[in-house]
Amino acid sequence: MTIAIIVHGGAGGWDVSGANLAEARQACERAAAAGRDILARGGSALDAVEAAVIILEDCPVLDAGRGSYPNAEGFVEMDALIMDGRNLQMGAIAAIQRVRHPVTLARRVMDKSGHHFLVGPGADAFADSIAFPRCDVSDLLVDADQEPEGLAVEGASGLGDTVGAVALDAYGNLAAATSTGGTPNKRPGRVGDSPLVGCGAYADNWTAGVSATGYGEALMRVVISKRVCDLVGTGLSAAAACEAAIRLLEERTGGEGGLIAVDARGQVGWAYNTGAMPHAFAIADGPVVVGN
Ligand code: ASP
Repeated sequence: MTIAIIVHGGAGGWDVSGANLAEARQACERAAAAGRDILARGGSALDAVEAAVIILEDCPVLDAGRGSYPNAEGFVEMDALIMDGRNLQMGAIAAIQRVRHPVTLARRVMDKSGHHFLVGPGADAFADSIAFPRCDVSDLLVDADQEPEGLAVEGASGLGDTVGAVALDAYGNLAAATSTGGTPNKRPGRVGDSPLVGCGAYADNWTAGVSATGYGEALMRVVISKRVCDLVGTGLSAAAACEAAIRLLEERTGGEGGLIAVDARGQVGWAYNTGAMPHAFAIADGPVVVGN
């Protein structure tokens, strides 16, 4: 069975000649390479997507973990989702504060909480109950000159630079993960598409794994990631399914966003209708390919 991984650093109004996009592309390249190394050593798709997203959460120009946008009250509230295509298991958290790696906490929710989705104070209490590492809000906020620049171009306003990864391992298992600080200046308690199953991500060994990014208020209304999986199930390639879902998003909601996908045969696809969406992928032992 072939292995494959694709990652993204958010669909937004990136300045395509700017330093931040170059840094985001490099982070995507490192994330895809790290995930591919895990897959090449026989590691699981879940481990690969978690490791890739951790690298992206550490990148200060991306809106996840360190570099998350503050909300309207200056706090950072983050959302994340991870999903296992073998058995449709999932873990999600929303409005979590003071953790460096929300994707890992989402995985702990899946494995240890007895539930699938924890939010706000309950997610905090769960994190503390398993002694999950906490940080200060200052560890998540970055300098103004390093701020995510997803708002640079008119028309893509309201988008962040959410991160995500999708992988297929050598045993034919798919996994997907998405992590975000949400949209800039969001109302406290606002949750977008990212932690919602089928919206921010979906993974099903029978069809595909998908991670989404963009204007969450639109993406959630078309349940976009599950829709891509269903389109793959009707025979579309991962690439064609992503294109079709972005067209549908535009036609039905006028929303902007981006998608990455890997299908059960290891074909990758992506699509976006914003200025850019830094991404990187690797298939089998081929090179890591980086794009906007
Ligand atoms: N989808 C994310 C949200 O609405 C933002 C993004 O992808 O940039 O929270």
